[in-house]
Amino acid sequence: MLKKFLYVLWICIFVVLVVLGLKNGSFITFINSMEARTFDIRQRALVNSGVRKHNPNIVIVAIDDASYEYILDHYGEWPLRRDLYAKMVNYIEAQKPKSIAFDLMFVKSLKSDKASDDALVDVFKKYDNVFTSMNLDDQPADLREPVELPDKLAVKLDESQDYNLMEYSNCRVILQDIIDATSNIGMINVARSDDGVLRKMPVFLKYNNKYYPQLGYLVGNHYLGKKQDLVVDDDEYGSGVILNWYGPAGTFENIPMYKLLKAAEGGESFDFNFKDKVVYFGATAASLFDIKTVPVDKVYPGVEVQATYVNNIIDGSYIIKSPMWGNLLSALVLMVISGICVFCISSMLTAFGFVLTVYAAYVAFTYYLMYAFNLWLDIVMPLSAAFGIFIVAVIIKYLIKSRDFDHQYKLATTDGLTELYNHRYFQEQLQQIVAHAKRYEVPLSLIIIDIDFFKRFNDTYGHQSGDAVLRQVAFELKKNVRASDIVCRYGGEEMSIILPNTRYEEAVAIANKLCTIISSKKCKLSNNRESNVTISLGVSSFGSDGTEPSKIIEAADKRLYHAKENGRNRVN
Ligand code: GH3
Ligand code: MG
Ligand code: MG
Repeated sequence: MLKKFLYVLWICIFVVLVVLGLKNGSFITFINSMEARTFDIRQRALVNSGVRKHNPNIVIVAIDDASYEYILDHYGEWPLRRDLYAKMVNYIEAQKPKSIAFDLMFVKSLKSDKASDDALVDVFKKYDNVFTSMNLDDQPADLREPVELPDKLAVKLDESQDYNLMEYSNCRVILQDIIDATSNIGMINVARSDDGVLRKMPVFLKYNNKYYPQLGYLVGNHYLGKKQDLVVDDDEYGSGVILNWYGPAGTFENIPMYKLLKAAEGGESFDFNFKDKVVYFGATAASLFDIKTVPVDKVYPGVEVQATYVNNIIDGSYIIKSPMWGNLLSALVLMVISGICVFCISSMLTAFGFVLTVYAAYVAFTYYLMYAFNLWLDIVMPLSAAFGIFIVAVIIKYLIKSRDFDHQYKLATTDGLTELYNHRYFQEQLQQIVAHAKRYEVPLSLIIIDIDFFKRFNDTYGHQSGDAVLRQVAFELKKNVRASDIVCRYGGEEMSIILPNTRYEEAVAIANKLCTIISSKKCKLSNNRESNVTISLGVSSFGSDGTEPSKIIEAADKRLYHAKENGRNRVN
């Protein structure tokens, strides 16, 4: 049992080493992308089961399709005049919101007019809870000269922490007057995995050797009134937080912007209370191209990604990836269980059913960890390693079984002293070979051998020396016949050789050869002594001596008797 356990343990360690060895290979990339899918499935399951509750204080003023049309009808081509945003901000501010954030960029535009832009700049001066955004990119410098951003927008980072930050060479700068008016400006760059799915929010971005915060980071920290502890996952997609989702597009309360616009312009009254709310302005209209794919929805507006991030900060609920040792430990436990199952459950089907149940329980466990602790424990690596072990263990078990079978078979068919085939095997083989000879009319001969004066030999040299001689005679016989001949211990000091496809004359010749070989062989005895023995041999053949095994044996026996009569150490 202990041996089996060690066996399993060694294999587990081996697999872990292989996995570690492949860490940088494309195999790992593949495993990671599969793992990301299991994350998406867990997220969708959590969202569908309704356990993820978003914060009702986050609302979105959505530039939806209806608002887009309304703006076209009433104010002309996009973008909307900036003084209208100022009016909406003033309208909301009158109700004391927590904050207002624009997931929109107020860049210089041909349609800009100074007066309306100034109205917007004024709200940034007036309220310290209004936030807006900017975007970093990699446009070539000859297209757009990179600008120096003021220090007030940057964050100081602990340089000793070697974050794998996303770095950009250019910046899509917004109205200089807004930059001058406020430091509430965050970036809205996102990070996508290879499969195009947005799972992660870069918290800080690098530009011009300075670090700029994500818009949601500013809004979330403002809500909490303190700096949030940083939980950062670092991988090939840069360092950032893995978002924990609340539902598909439209989960957060969406207020169509045209309704707010009407109210702000002094039109219809609008009964929504913005008190203590975080109000995010952003586009949800398909025509405005701010659409992402996220784990819980294929079409998800960028502003709701921001809202999700802020909500994660407020709840302290971003996803934390299990450290490597957690995943390796899970893998090890699953591998050990898989291995033990194979060796301790005799039915392969039951063992398979059992490990599948264990794997399912593990998946349920990872789901629970994500639900209760926002923890992402790997599924793909531990389960594939465990299943690999299961397969390896099945193969080993099969090999051990077949080796056991070979061993049992050998025990049942051979003689322990001489390692020749035993009497039972001799009888079985003779039956079969006689039947074959009958059916195909091929020759077959039999030699029966008896050691001469063996009783006396035993008496003289002792039984141990007798045994040694028996072994050496058996060895010589085997060595000097064809591989297809079957050498058996007939009983006592008698041996027999079945010679398929061999005529009587040939068999006699072989018998004579054996007789000479044995008589000239010096046998080693116990106590370093040497002696030789002689043998007498009787030969018979299928056909001339009968067509039944018993007849053939009887004939060989008779001839052996005559050989003894005629002086031994001879063939008859
Ligand atoms: P013969 O030439 O007429 O064959 O004389 P023999 O003494 O060989 O014949 P007998 O049949 O009287 O005696 C056979 C002896 O072989 C008896 C037994 O002591 C010995 N013998 C049989 N099996 C074994 C064995 O496994 N080991 C040893 N050491 N002796 C054995
Ligand atoms: Mg005998
Ligand atoms: Mg004898």
